[in-house]
Amino acid sequence: MTSPPALAYAFRRVAYSIHPDDLGSLLPSEPPYRASQLRRWLYVTPVLDPEDMTNLPAAVRREIRLWPFRVVADQVGDNGTTRKWLFEADDGAQYEAVLMGYPRRTTLCISSQAGCALGCTFCATGQFGFERHLEPGEIVAQVAYAQAFLRQIGLPGSPDRLTNVVFMGMGEPLANYNRVREAIRRMIEEMGMSARSITVSTVGMVPGIRRLADEGWPLNLAISLHAADDELRSRLVPINRRYPISDLEEAAKEYAAKTGRRVSIEWTVMDGVNDIPEQARLLADIARRIRAHVNLIALNPTPLSTEKAPSREAMDRFVQILRDMGVNVTVRDTRGRDIDAACGQLRAERGRRQPVSIG
Ligand code: SAH
Ligand code: SF4
Repeated sequence: MTSPPALAYAFRRVAYSIHPDDLGSLLPSEPPYRASQLRRWLYVTPVLDPEDMTNLPAAVRREIRLWPFRVVADQVGDNGTTRKWLFEADDGAQYEAVLMGYPRRTTLCISSQAGCALGCTFCATGQFGFERHLEPGEIVAQVAYAQAFLRQIGLPGSPDRLTNVVFMGMGEPLANYNRVREAIRRMIEEMGMSARSITVSTVGMVPGIRRLADEGWPLNLAISLHAADDELRSRLVPINRRYPISDLEEAAKEYAAKTGRRVSIEWTVMDGVNDIPEQARLLADIARRIRAHVNLIALNPTPLSTEKAPSREAMDRFVQILRDMGVNVTVRDTRGRDIDAACGQLRAERGRRQPVSIG
């Protein structure tokens, strides 16, 4: 892939940034069926390079810029089964996505904002602050890019298509509700993904959870709880002061009742902070009340946080208390640690990046 001169590149309209119904506006002198062909290339069988859209005339392919970003870093980890991309928009905003391959599935972790305004103490994105919301095209393009990558290049030992998408990259998806909604609509209605294969992770924006429950999509909802009493939670997750645990619990129950989906609870385990037996017992009570599965993830220490990862013993004890109280619990793997691609690490590497290729 060669890059066109920077100026021409910047002025061309970006295909993923245009609403799928309006793609004809990109091709004013072409017959209408060209827009349908382009729509299929964008959403049904995505390709990395416009040149790969083989049924479009060469002149048309040359005029199209697919991606709303440049890929400024492309890192490979876990023996080739994890891939992290750092994207940069024309205005300089950066955001990341991580693709993880397993024998029978592939999971893409995507960003909904460049940065995040919510300031959870232990999160690298939160420590960086908020830059801007991502547009629907910028969100869905992360998914299409991974799909194109899997179709055309692939991860060793994994399916050649995307099976799961999780909103666990940078940003709080429910703080960017309308744009995230349109991105999800395109994943479902244009790309043909099942809502059941998409997970929205939220720090607990209660109004957003209520709206999402009414969309009519059986999306998975993950609630980032991290603490089971309001005092501790408000310290770790400042937005808890606005939406305390009892409100969050109600919204989660309502979500499960309306969508028929189980909710999951995310719990980033921190040494001496929330890995203590008292928190495990309180968490078990909450999980039982909302019938949620609990996902534990050991803290990935970030450069600016004082919290530390838990000891093995504390983690085991925590898991045991939950199990003894009848709660389903999974300890999430730490994929991508070797390339700082694990949760909460995204964007921590700013300043050390290396430009490698153009998307
Ligand atoms: N804003 C949303 C989604 C992005 S964060 C949310 O908070 O849910 C995705 C997940 O990564 C959250 O569960 C978050 O708590 C977790 N996370 C953030 N920083 C982390 C860190 N340093 N180590 C481990 N998990 C972290
Ligand atoms: Fe934002 Fe989620 Fe990080 Fe909190 S954990 S700062 S909500 S990205």
